[in-house]
Amino acid sequence: MVAASLRRSSRTSRALPGVSEPQAVALLLSERCNNRCRMCIAPDALRGTDCSGAILRHGLLRHRARGFTALEISGFESLVRPDAPELIRFARDAGYERIHVITNARELARPGLAAKLIAAGTTSFTISFHASTARMEEAVSGVRGGFEGKVRGLGNLVRAVVAAGSGVLLRANVVILRENHRSLRSVCRLLHGLGLREVHLCFMSPLSSDLGRYFAHVVRYSRVGAPLRAALQYLRDRGMDYRVVNVPHCRLREFPEAWPRIRHEAPSLRGAPTIPRVREAFYRFVRASQKVKPATCASCRFTGACPGVDDCYLDRFGPGELRPIRGSARRSSRGGAGSQRVQDRSWREPGGSA
Ligand code: SF4
Repeated sequence: MVAASLRRSSRTSRALPGVSEPQAVALLLSERCNNRCRMCIAPDALRGTDCSGAILRHGLLRHRARGFTALEISGFESLVRPDAPELIRFARDAGYERIHVITNARELARPGLAAKLIAAGTTSFTISFHASTARMEEAVSGVRGGFEGKVRGLGNLVRAVVAAGSGVLLRANVVILRENHRSLRSVCRLLHGLGLREVHLCFMSPLSSDLGRYFAHVVRYSRVGAPLRAALQYLRDRGMDYRVVNVPHCRLREFPEAWPRIRHEAPSLRGAPTIPRVREAFYRFVRASQKVKPATCASCRFTGACPGVDDCYLDRFGPGELRPIRGSARRSSRGGAGSQRVQDRSWREPGGSA
């Protein structure tokens, strides 16, 4: 169990600012979740029970002894586990210097939990947040009644981070899918109102084991363009930091200032878990998420910098939506003419003046 719960994370090295392999360990704190999100890479078949705290502590010590100093904590939902603060404190006392928690924020509605996590040693949070109304939240998360707690939980977290002073970082990840793509601006507006100052807008990736589910919820790039631009304009106008994930440059040709902020997720088999049922699903996810480029990309100025689109997306929708951008390939390698470099270290603390 420990091997599945703790593994080197190629993803973490990008998710955590300034952390590079092999310093980061990914900790799957729980195999349970209070949501059933449409875009989740952990389908119901993989849901199980949590392994014991003793096993996790043993694994944390073993990886620490191998030199790891950063930890990414996720789950299914990491905070459904009651001993989460104790395990984080254990990790900090064992010498992990950066502890990043990924959560859907619902459990943070419990009074005092956010402050407890920070006091225990959490140094950064990513909040999965995809809706601006209860109805939309239900459509995305697959469960009823979670929206109010999620909003309250994020509010609690922002207050706890602000109260803790500088040094604790917070951002929201918004996955773009059929159920919310027309409302990206209102999701961003809600996040801004709650005090967030950094938002990542992430085009949906293929699911681990269920491509049918992926195609039921993914929306074509061409339909996302206008609402995505509206959301980006909103974030820009309020001075918020943002990234756009899994969207090729050519689908943001009307918003070139976003080009330096485009990121692509490319999961690697190097981070594969070792428990067979989890590993098989992970392999399917990695295969389906491999980026590919059709021949038409050869004439694009970004062909050197852009990895293309998900293999299964191209299979289903064809190359027609990709429209090469002409111009100098040399200039495009840093995001295009007139672009500024964007540092991944530039996470914003919440509640600031943006
Ligand atoms: S290389 Fe292809 S996918 Fe990437 S921006 Fe250019 S046309 Fe689009």
